Amino acid sequence: MAKKVGILCSGGDGPGMNAAIRSVVRCSLAAGMEAVGIMRGYQGIFDEDFISMNHRSVSGIIDRGGTILKTARCKEFTTDEGQKKAVEILRKHGIDVVVVIGGDGSYRGANAIWQKFQYPVIGLPGTIDNDLNGTDQTIGCYTAVHTALEAIDKIRDTAHSMERIFIVEVMGNKSGYIAVEVALGAGAEEVIVPERKFDYERMNQEIREGRQKGKVSWIVVVAEGAGKAADIATAITTMTGFETRYVVLGHVQRGGCPLGQDRILATRVGAAAVDLIAQGIYGKAVGVLQNKINVVDLKDATQKEFDHIDEYMSLVRRLT
Ligand code: ATP
Repeated sequence: MAKKVGILCSGGDGPGMNAAIRSVVRCSLAAGMEAVGIMRGYQGIFDEDFISMNHRSVSGIIDRGGTILKTARCKEFTTDEGQKKAVEILRKHGIDVVVVIGGDGSYRGANAIWQKFQYPVIGLPGTIDNDLNGTDQTIGCYTAVHTALEAIDKIRDTAHSMERIFIVEVMGNKSGYIAVEVALGAGAEEVIVPERKFDYERMNQEIREGRQKGKVSWIVVVAEGAGKAADIATAITTMTGFETRYVVLGHVQRGGCPLGQDRILATRVGAAAVDLIAQGIYGKAVGVLQNKINVVDLKDATQKEFDHIDEYMSLVRRLT
């Protein structure tokens, strides 16, 4: 009997998820398997919200942000009972394997049903945070950085013209990946990330000294998990006496047309996932390392610290 491949997106959406869905669906069909979309992540399993997918179901989506399967966070799936129930439902519907497109949490969930119930799963790195092991980049991270950069380029015009300090809050609760990339790419003066302690006194001192020497504007990029832009702006104004504004970029960073790199990564890992399924290899996460497809155990794929964080941070400081 043909294998029935379930596909779901889980956690936050990211540009390029649709390209991954397209790749998994079309490669599965080409290999003689069936493809089933699971709506709203793990929640869709409990809701038994499954849709049969054919070649046409994924037409015209490669350039669309978000995910046609929707995505969600699902509390029930984090419990032992919930995971057991989910596996029973999947088996009842004859779904032989699930490809999970998501981030760290989604991988932990997928690994849980693989380890506890030997339910076959494959993970694809779908998160803008770029915080997964076994892959240099994750689907969506290129576009998210690009989107934030475009916004900061505009903010810099105002910062410079009005001679102001701007605090720009970007996404990244536990990961400073977007913040450091954006700070370097935008030519920001400071970057604040959750992974490293930040010396506010040093920054305030440098702002005061810089102003005396004629420097008129600053861009300080902060990852959301490292502090609230509003609080940092107030603290700088209090300590330096200079007018400081803040911008929270928020969800604009998630959406939009995926860049080529995200679509290509998504397409490659999607196809590789189907190759694993065809060979009966499960419990793995697929990524691309040094431009080659890379497969690791799901349990080893979670929680990466961005390798170049110190290099990026010191470059930001060096170029200020
Ligand atoms: P993003 O990087 O975009 O935040 P994510 O996959 O890390 O994506 P989470 O909200 O952490 O997003 O996880 C998505 C879903 O995965 C959760 O709602 C939950 O259903 C499941 N999940 C998360 N952590 C676990 C866990 N430790 N065990 C089982 N399931 C989990």
